[in-house]
Amino acid sequence: MRTPEDMAFSTTPARREGGRATCDLPELLAEPGEDTRQRLGRFFRERGEPEYRAGQVEKWVWERAARSFDEMTNIPAALREPLAEAYSLTPIEPDYVARSRDGTIKHLWRLDDGERVESVLIPTRDRLTLCLSSQAGCALACRFCATGYFGFRRQLRAAEIVAQYRESLRVAREELGRPISNVVYMGMGEPLANLDAVIGSLRALHEGFGLGARRITVSTVGLIPGILELARRPEPFELALSLHAPTHDLRLELMPIEKRYPLPELFEALRKYQSYKNRRLSFEYTLIRGVNDDPALADALADLAEGLICFVNLIPFNSIPSRPEWSPSSPSAIERFSAGLAARGVGNAVRRPRGRDIAAACGQLRLSRES
Ligand code: SAH
Repeated sequence: MRTPEDMAFSTTPARREGGRATCDLPELLAEPGEDTRQRLGRFFRERGEPEYRAGQVEKWVWERAARSFDEMTNIPAALREPLAEAYSLTPIEPDYVARSRDGTIKHLWRLDDGERVESVLIPTRDRLTLCLSSQAGCALACRFCATGYFGFRRQLRAAEIVAQYRESLRVAREELGRPISNVVYMGMGEPLANLDAVIGSLRALHEGFGLGARRITVSTVGLIPGILELARRPEPFELALSLHAPTHDLRLELMPIEKRYPLPELFEALRKYQSYKNRRLSFEYTLIRGVNDDPALADALADLAEGLICFVNLIPFNSIPSRPEWSPSSPSAIERFSAGLAARGVGNAVRRPRGRDIAAACGQLRLSRES
C-alpha cells in the first residue's frame, strides 16, 4: 500500500514509554491554534521567508488534510524538507481496507511502531460517520467485545487518533465525494482511559478541522473521573455510556469495570454531568439473547435513568469468535425490550448493524490480521 510519495516522507520512529508511544517531533495534526501559528511563523522568518507561509501550512494540514509536506506545493520545495525535519505529520499507513456491501469501509491502520488500529466509515443518507479508535487494544475486558478479548497494547497519541480522521477524510472526499459529518469514539479502546490524548484529539477535530462539537460523541464504559472532566470542558461534545446491564450483578458479569465504578456512583456522576451540560445523554445497550434482554431489565433501566434526559440505542449483539455461545436477541425480544422502555417514557431506537460482513460492526474490531 505504500506509494513512492509515502516512502519519500521521513517518518519519525516512535519510542515506547510506559505503554505510551512517543514521537520525537511536534505533531502538527494535534496542535492547531495560536502557538503553532507562532512557531511556524518563526520557522519561516528564521529562513528569510514571509510569515504568511505559516497560514499556508495550516491550510494544508487542517483544510486539505495533507499527509506529507511534499504535497504542500505552494511552499518552496527547499523548505519542505526542513519542515519535515522539524515537524511530524503523523503518517499512518493503511494495512488493509475492507468494503462492506452496505457501503461501510473499514481500515486497519499501521502506526509508526507497528501497532495496528481500526476505524470505520459508515455512510447513511444524511450522515457520514467515522468511528475511530482511541487505544491499541483495550484493558477493560467487556465480555461481549472482541477488542477487549485481545487485551491492551498501548495508548494512542492525540495525533494518532486525529490521523485516522485525516486519512478517512481523504477517502471520504476522494471516493465518496462528501465530508465526514460525525465522529464517534466507538472503535478500539476506552477513550476515557486515555483522557489527555483524547481531549487533545477532540480539540484538534473541533478547532483544527472545524467539526462541530455536537457532531462528536465520546463513548465510555463509565470511567467517572473522565466523565467529570468532560463535564467541566466548555465544548458541548456528546457523551454516550455503554450500559448493557441495569443491575449490579449482571453488569459485573458483563463488564468488569462495574467493580470499580458501580452503577449508583456512575449514575450520580451522570447526573452531575447533566447538571453541568444540560445535554441529553445516550446509552448503548447491546442485546444478547437470554443474557440481558429480559423485559424486567427494561424496567430496571428505566428506574436507573429516572430523572435523566436520555436516549437508549439498542444494538443487537454482533457475534464474536471468542463468545460462540452468545447470539443476538430475537427480533421479538428486541421489540419487547424497546416497547418496555417506551412504556416508561424512555426514548430508544434499535440500531441496524452495519458492516457485519466485514467484521466492522460494534465490538468486532480487533487486530484482525494478527488473530
Ligand atoms: N470503550 C468504549 C468505546 C468502544 S466500544 C465503550 O465501551 O463505550 C463501542 C460500543 O460497541 C460500546 O457500546 C460497546 O459496548 C459496543 N459493543 C462491544 N462489543 C459489541 C458486540 N459484540 N456487539 C454489539 N455491540 C458491542
